[in-house]
Amino acid sequence: MSDEIDRNNLNFYQELAEDNKSKVVLMVLDGLGGLPLESGGKTELEIAHTPRMDALACESICGLHSPVGPGIIPGSGPAHLGLFGYDPVKYQVGRGVLSALGIGFDLREGDVAARGNFCTVDEKGIITDRRAGRISSEKNRELCKLLRKIEIPGISIHIETVKEYRFLFVMGGKNLSGEVSATDPQNVGEKPLDPIPENEEAKYTAELIKKFIDKARNVLADHSPANMILLRGFSKRPQWPDFEDTFKVRAVAIAAYPMYRGVAKLVGMNALESGDTLDEEFSILEKNWLNYDFFFIHVKKIDSYGEDGKDKDKIRLIEEVDTYIPRLLKLKPDVLIVTGDHSTPSVLKSHSWHPVPVMIRSKYSRVDTVSEFGERACMYGGLGPRIPSHHLMPIAMANAGRLEKFGA
Ligand code: ZN
Repeated sequence: MSDEIDRNNLNFYQELAEDNKSKVVLMVLDGLGGLPLESGGKTELEIAHTPRMDALACESICGLHSPVGPGIIPGSGPAHLGLFGYDPVKYQVGRGVLSALGIGFDLREGDVAARGNFCTVDEKGIITDRRAGRISSEKNRELCKLLRKIEIPGISIHIETVKEYRFLFVMGGKNLSGEVSATDPQNVGEKPLDPIPENEEAKYTAELIKKFIDKARNVLADHSPANMILLRGFSKRPQWPDFEDTFKVRAVAIAAYPMYRGVAKLVGMNALESGDTLDEEFSILEKNWLNYDFFFIHVKKIDSYGEDGKDKDKIRLIEEVDTYIPRLLKLKPDVLIVTGDHSTPSVLKSHSWHPVPVMIRSKYSRVDTVSEFGERACMYGGLGPRIPSHHLMPIAMANAGRLEKFGA
């Protein structure tokens, strides 16, 4: 085990953590980080008129966090794990599991999940379209009903529509393994691959998957263009250190999208379904203030606007979030962290590798000279320009007085 992993071991923090009833809020503006809209100009966050967040920056220690590692473009799943204190390189989630989280499917211990595609094969069984002509979600639902009729002795099978040609495949039963290779060759002009066990224990699972695929081929035969399936990302729900045990808090996620409640639940947080508006999210926060000590509150659409290249909408929503800061402060959290999970610059219309502005406000924050919440300003903050995201949670917990002295 390398020194780095040793230092980041959550069990180490578990030994130091104590429950002192203080309250910590982590507010995540998804895809917050941006880039100048024109060369040398300002980013979305810098353009946004955010007097309340700027005032918070004056009372906080600021910086930029690096979600996964230098140059890595993070998905939202790993980026959130980092914010929760889990090194996303060490704590990796399989694609099948992420897919289940994305639609709010509760995986049980031992379940194996995979991402499914409907695809098109010709009469020789060769793939001609890996996405089945991008069938509608409605068609997908019809086909999932057919797949649900397939029975394989010894296991239960769950099939759920995700979107268009994508679906979720979950098998439940005893002695199942996620160590099975994908059946998607990633190319047209080839036949779907057989699921190959990656070790001896996975042999049984691979056989069951093969049986399922053979039956699916028959069931779908007359349903061209969606006359075959491809499965990849076989994975099990991971068994990781529990967030509540590690930091000795009662933790809750407030998020409108199932994916974020799912990632929070994956580390053992509770999750509350919230409405789509900021007002509803903050109402839930206020109503539950006495029931928990750690609150993760998630604002999704900033990322969506970045992905669509809608800089004006991204700016407007950041400004709207700013107006909710007084409601947060009224609750008097002992520690307040405001940040994003990763950058989604509207000029790139995608997630990016750039570090993300962060501020931590508490009675014990060593306040720096940053007086504006923005990318340039935070670069000169006390947390530094590139702190690993998974270091933020221990710092927040220490600021909350929740970590005891190490050694005599
Ligand atoms: Zn995100």
